Amino acid sequence: MNLYRTLPSVDTILQWPGFENHNRELLLRAIRKSLDKLRCQISQGCIDVIDPHRIRREIDAFYQYLLTPSLQTVVNATGVILHTNLGRAPIDESFFWESGRIAAGYCNLEYDLASGKRGDRHLHAAESLQELFGCEDALIVNNNAAAVFLILNTFAKGKEAIVSRGELVEIGGSFRIPEVMAASGAKLVEVGTTNKTRIGDYEAAIGEETALLMKVHKSNYTIEGFSAEATMEEISALARERGVIDYYDLGSAYLPELPWGLGQGEPSLPKILVKAPSLLSFSGDKLFGGVQAGIILGKKPLIDRLKKNQILRMFRVDKVTLALLERTILAYRKREYEKIPVLRLLFASVKQLEKRAATLKERLPIPAEILPSETYVGGGTLPNRKIPTVVLALEGDPEKLETAFRAQRIIGRIEKDRFVLDMRTVEEGDFGQIVEAAENVVRSEE
Ligand SMILES: *Cc1c(COP(=O)(O)O)cnc(C)c1O
Repeated sequence: MNLYRTLPSVDTILQWPGFENHNRELLLRAIRKSLDKLRCQISQGCIDVIDPHRIRREIDAFYQYLLTPSLQTVVNATGVILHTNLGRAPIDESFFWESGRIAAGYCNLEYDLASGKRGDRHLHAAESLQELFGCEDALIVNNNAAAVFLILNTFAKGKEAIVSRGELVEIGGSFRIPEVMAASGAKLVEVGTTNKTRIGDYEAAIGEETALLMKVHKSNYTIEGFSAEATMEEISALARERGVIDYYDLGSAYLPELPWGLGQGEPSLPKILVKAPSLLSFSGDKLFGGVQAGIILGKKPLIDRLKKNQILRMFRVDKVTLALLERTILAYRKREYEKIPVLRLLFASVKQLEKRAATLKERLPIPAEILPSETYVGGGTLPNRKIPTVVLALEGDPEKLETAFRAQRIIGRIEKDRFVLDMRTVEEGDFGQIVEAAENVVRSEE
């Protein structure tokens, strides 16, 4: 029998019950793809009967695939709060509803409601940041990498920027200070050594061409043992004395004092601002816990010069980012820290995590053990600083469990040869999805 002949036609399949409300274009694509696959299987001799149920399943699966965006939600059960691969900082869903109303329609992005004239998009977040920090001025760009580039390009293009050899960092995703500097047109002048740089090293390197003294946060490594670095205070004082700009690339910044002793040697933003560096910048979606953005704070005349750089046009943020960022800043002003998910996850006590673990364990169809463990904040912040956590270690082959859960978009980790779900980054809202995934795992093993 010729199997090809027994394949139903596209027109026949279109009449099958249940397809009435499907999008016709997408359904046609799904049908053609499924029939192509079947023809291929026939030609390879993989099938010997045409089963309409099987065709139906293929079409349904392909149709579903066409409807699903590539970007999908996952449950972060890795315990790493700022997981670079999982979208870095989570944002409270209510912020999207609230700012969605502003961003979806028309808004006063560049319109001055008082005068009826053209306004400045950079003023919106700047004003709320001034309120929050009492800083002179602020500027928002797409991310902190853009902030670094813009600052170097504006002030040190064709001139020299001095950086310690201990701070020539590479951030994940190939952001390297020397290369960003070269691209910006600034000439890098390295001072000191890998482990020790003193203020005198900066001082000795200042010359006619010096535009800027830059300090870079060692975001993802530490230098221990016989080591020293110049403080921002020393660098700022020296810069003032010699008439050059001092700039601190903080990488990440946080406001309320951190738990778990994380603040040791990592001062909060208000404490850094007291020392009044001319310029500083940090990411909006690291410990600050907001949307992807580069936040620049500093002296008004310097921010004004940044605003005059043509390149800012390429780095400026849109109304969606601005609306979300303003909402996050408002949460800080109102001290609604529980609405900043990064802080909520970070501050959760071990007792809370134990309770979370016990509740989830109760609902899981797979036997599990509640164990104390340790995790990291992640995302290029607070390197080598562990924080306590509680994990649910599942019974069974760790690799198989990891794969099976990942197939259902639950990302855990393997620790001491066990597959674990880390409660530091899992909240009650995730339990339903985890339980359903576990039920599917159990079913597939039966
Ligand atoms: C993370 C980081 C950057 C890059 O910030 P993005 O917001 O990811 O662009 C730059 N410098 C330092 C020191 C960092 O830690």
